[in-house]
Amino acid sequence: MRDLLMIPGPVDVDADVLQALSAPVPGHLDAAFIATFGRALKRLREVSLAPGAQPFVVSGSGTLAMELAVANLVEPGDRALVVNTGYFSDRMAHILERHGAKVTHVRAPTGGAPEVAQVEAELRGGGFKLMTVTHVDTSTAVLAPVEPLVKAARQYGVLAVVDGVCATAGEAFHQDAWGADVYLTASQKAVGVPPGLALLTVSPRALAAWKQRKTPVASVYADWAEWLPVMEAYEAGKPSYFATPPTSLVCALDVSLGQILAEGMEARFERHRRMARAFRAAWSALGLRLVPTSEALAANTLSAVYYPDGVDASLVGRVKAQGVAIAGGLHPEIKTRYFRVGHMNRVSAGDVLVTVGAIERALRAAGHRAAASGTAVAAAQAALSE
Ligand code: PMP
Repeated sequence: MRDLLMIPGPVDVDADVLQALSAPVPGHLDAAFIATFGRALKRLREVSLAPGAQPFVVSGSGTLAMELAVANLVEPGDRALVVNTGYFSDRMAHILERHGAKVTHVRAPTGGAPEVAQVEAELRGGGFKLMTVTHVDTSTAVLAPVEPLVKAARQYGVLAVVDGVCATAGEAFHQDAWGADVYLTASQKAVGVPPGLALLTVSPRALAAWKQRKTPVASVYADWAEWLPVMEAYEAGKPSYFATPPTSLVCALDVSLGQILAEGMEARFERHRRMARAFRAAWSALGLRLVPTSEALAANTLSAVYYPDGVDASLVGRVKAQGVAIAGGLHPEIKTRYFRVGHMNRVSAGDVLVTVGAIERALRAAGHRAAASGTAVAAAQAALSE
């Protein structure tokens, strides 16, 4: 029997999205495909709540989306501020440095996020070309205070790049209203498509900064100069070619983005909050401690939870034996001490109850008997009923 997939990406996708993938492979110059690609680009803009932004859909994973932002906005010697909340903020810094940026980190202890005032103090010091924030760092499940951070960057004239790989279409984000310059993501998480697409929405300010570059972008595949005419052409209903688009995945993306918009962005953000609250009620009923150091910093798209005393990473296998796939730790400092549960995209009340029940049984099998059997399921159920 197939396990319920509750890892923080890739996630389970809707049957209509899968069906789009099983259609005969569309040619990239086919009229129907051109219309689909154009609509997907428009829909991506709506999902980012960024009517003024330029969307990009490129074959690759989230790491390419990060590189597509950095390679175009950074020139050797530029200074970049990384608001660091974990493993994926470190990856962003790694990419920035590879493209010649001088990186300053603002860090917090593992599970925390830097104070906005701390970031503002750095921004006030001046000299930064761009600031990066990981909206939800998948290694810690920390939800960064992205709105005030982006607004602070705006105030100091610094470009704000937000990694939304574990957040976009799950966590509230208003790109235009908040003034973020790049919102980047990938297809395989809350966007609800199998892995394979790097997605970006880029502000006019960021495009203007890119146009003023004095040095060439140090990657041909990541150069916006190659992709911008292609995106513009497809949106205008015309074919164009730089590198073959992943036609089947683009069709699947169009279906998923259509479903996301039909649900409504606010309703979708609220459903993710509701499911996350139910999981948190369960963790609390089990006496488990979260990696995020406060409720306000706890993501709505995944949970990162410490194993209780006497339970180790074998719990992940025990949960799988109960029919649910969850993930182990990722952050190098605490890797073996916690587990992660993804709750995004199609996540439903049923998924929450099945997952919590499986974890509760697996904990008992591992000898953890802090709470009576069924306590966590009841707590999640109560939260879902509120
Ligand atoms: N950023 C974040 C926040 C992520 O969670 C991930 C993937 N887990 C990435 C970037 C990198 O994405 P990918 O693995 O698709 O390259």
